[in-house]
Amino acid sequence: MQQRVEDLKRLFGQVHDLNAAANVLEWDQETYMPDGAAEARAHQVATLRRLAHECFTADEVGTLLESLATETQTLDPGTTQASLVRVGRRDYEKAVRIPASLVAAMAEAVARGKQAWREARATNTYAVFAPHLERLIELNVQKAEALGYNEHIYDALLDQFEEGMQASTVEAVFNALRAELVPIVHAIAEREIPEDNFLHQRFDTQKQWDFGLEVIKDFGYDFRRGRLDRSAHPFTTAFSITDVRLTTRLDEQYLPTAFFGTLHECGHGLYEQGIDLTLNRTPLADGTSLGMHESQSRLWENLVGRSRVFWKHYYPRLQAFFPEQLAGISLETFYRGINRVRPSLIRVEADEVTYNLHIMLRFELEQSMLEGRVAVGELPERWRAKMEEYLGVCPETDADGVLQDIHWSLGALGYFPTYAFGNLMSVQLFEQACLDLPGLEDQMAEGQFDALLGWLRTNIHQYGRTLQAAEILKRITGEDLQAAPWLAYIREKYGKIYGAL
Ligand code: ZN
Repeated sequence: MQQRVEDLKRLFGQVHDLNAAANVLEWDQETYMPDGAAEARAHQVATLRRLAHECFTADEVGTLLESLATETQTLDPGTTQASLVRVGRRDYEKAVRIPASLVAAMAEAVARGKQAWREARATNTYAVFAPHLERLIELNVQKAEALGYNEHIYDALLDQFEEGMQASTVEAVFNALRAELVPIVHAIAEREIPEDNFLHQRFDTQKQWDFGLEVIKDFGYDFRRGRLDRSAHPFTTAFSITDVRLTTRLDEQYLPTAFFGTLHECGHGLYEQGIDLTLNRTPLADGTSLGMHESQSRLWENLVGRSRVFWKHYYPRLQAFFPEQLAGISLETFYRGINRVRPSLIRVEADEVTYNLHIMLRFELEQSMLEGRVAVGELPERWRAKMEEYLGVCPETDADGVLQDIHWSLGALGYFPTYAFGNLMSVQLFEQACLDLPGLEDQMAEGQFDALLGWLRTNIHQYGRTLQAAEILKRITGEDLQAAPWLAYIREKYGKIYGAL
């Protein structure tokens, strides 16, 4: 058996290297590549991805996985060998179930769809994107049928991003969330709005950069195994556990963009850097799900970075960077300013409180489209109605409404809910960390995060994909994904800013 495990690792290692090389090229494309190289780069990435897919779906891999599946059955499922075979097999089956013709059709539809989406958004013409969306939905239905599902067609698509999660569970959690959150958001909209003009001034970008860097170093992000660069859309990518890259976007006229974006990506990066090194070059060397990944970014961005105790330590530091801009702005005013809640049209600009409503709306529309309950032509109207109902605001243009996100044009349906899972889980996990680590708040108020990072590494990061997200959450908190802790946190925190909610 040992020889065959080694053979499997060798093959997985090759697949990993090809994908990592493609990741390097994609990272470069978003950071330093000259525009003229776009077409050549698209070919290079496509070739590497195709080779990786061919290597991974080779008969040799299937045969090895098949024979090892029986033999590893008696092993503890937590061992690397058993996990490697179990997770490898799941990935393999998904990869071979989707016929090559469908993969090609999807790639073509995405290429066309992305272009149409850009044009539709720029000219505010939904009709330009609609036929492409229709095609992408049709292909997603075919994909879901190929992957298979028990209950809802949505399950198959969701499973690509959040393994084991069911649409019915999402629905139950979202229903509980919506019932309490909509009235909270409507109540906040009626209250006095905290001042935040001071955040909209000229803030030297080099100083913004330096301050962000200082904070993520304190968080424990390892610059010997990573780096931070600029890009139009912030992201995190990993080429190996020993090379995890972050990017951020700088806005000279608005302080929070770069700072919270940097903390967010750092949260993703800390997760990737914390995976056990013995899992390197295997399919286990990755975050276990998009939801768990997002829980890590949200934890550092919101529960740490937007907390009062955090700024007790860092506000004087920030004032030292920007003495003119922040002169006369008290810690309390600053804290309330960065936590201002404003029901708005655009998801990526949404605050901590309203964000989940943007996600619920997308989840509901995706489900309706996949099940054929809403036609693509009706989508803009449905979008406006739901925005009005949930957030009390209504987009005047489709560019600010149904056309705002790139995800559907990429054929990614089933992806959005993972953002909300991340928000909810971040609170469930952080509360347990506070219970397990007495004195955590005092440490945060001193700018010390070793204990928190250590706790996250021990309980979450090190496992990579060895454990599924739901298992990790259950092990740590004894609970499944829930809306109640997040709602309680929001009531408590924002009740203090806006008055009882
Ligand atoms: Zn994220």
